[in-house]
Amino acid sequence: MTVRIVRPHLKLPQIPFHRRHRPPPRQYEGYTPCLRWEFGFVCAMCLLHETDYEPLGVMRQARYWIEHLESQVAAPERANDYDNLVWTCGRCNSHRRSRPRTTGHGSILDPTVAAWNLHFVVEGDRIKARPGDPDARYTHELYDFDGPDKVGRRARRRKELTWALQYVTEQNLATRDALNRNAEASGPRRIHFLQHAREVQRGWSGARMVLLDHRFLPVDRPTRCADVPPRWLRLHALPPELERQAKRVPAALLGVPPDP
Ligand SMILES: [Zn+2]
Ligand SMILES: [Zn+2]
Repeated sequence: MTVRIVRPHLKLPQIPFHRRHRPPPRQYEGYTPCLRWEFGFVCAMCLLHETDYEPLGVMRQARYWIEHLESQVAAPERANDYDNLVWTCGRCNSHRRSRPRTTGHGSILDPTVAAWNLHFVVEGDRIKARPGDPDARYTHELYDFDGPDKVGRRARRRKELTWALQYVTEQNLATRDALNRNAEASGPRRIHFLQHAREVQRGWSGARMVLLDHRFLPVDRPTRCADVPPRWLRLHALPPELERQAKRVPAALLGVPPDP
């Protein structure tokens, strides 16, 4: 009975995104719901979560797009090939434009084949290519992994969520204690505790808002996609790697229904 929240700190996947969806052939835009679940609502390149850009849902604002690893210019025959498609934020997508998959300097890494932590390292809110890894350097450069806007969004998420997660766990208890003591106290002590309880309550509703703005399963997540899956396969689940990364907060604490 919990709600999954995006983790505050940047963490690189230790295994590649393994494709679970097998949608039948169609125009590539039709794969959008599959790709969003496939990549766990995260940009496959810079790893920003959809809610880092738009807590109310990225689809209304078209802030995330389908990226063709082999560009449509270079390989028009692969435009609708599901295995050629990944989910990326608009900034990564537009920074590459249609520059080639492979040049003399390196080749774009495929996040469904390569585990990011073998090619990159985290430094604070930045992602650095590992030394002597030309493909990592090329990918980093083409998608502008550490553009100022992206680093800023990672930093804001880290600060806000670290505070909010701590607040709802620790301060929630403080509120209860303050209210209990208030019930027992009298005179000036009673007023003091009442003020304290009000302050905590105000902070707490701020923290609750921050957490609800960073739900791992966004408000506009699709409920169906193009596949007819075998019954044992749960398609509408986060990739296992991201499931492990998610923070879980009791739904009752946030006053919302738990994640399915
Ligand atoms: Zn699907
Ligand atoms: Zn991105």
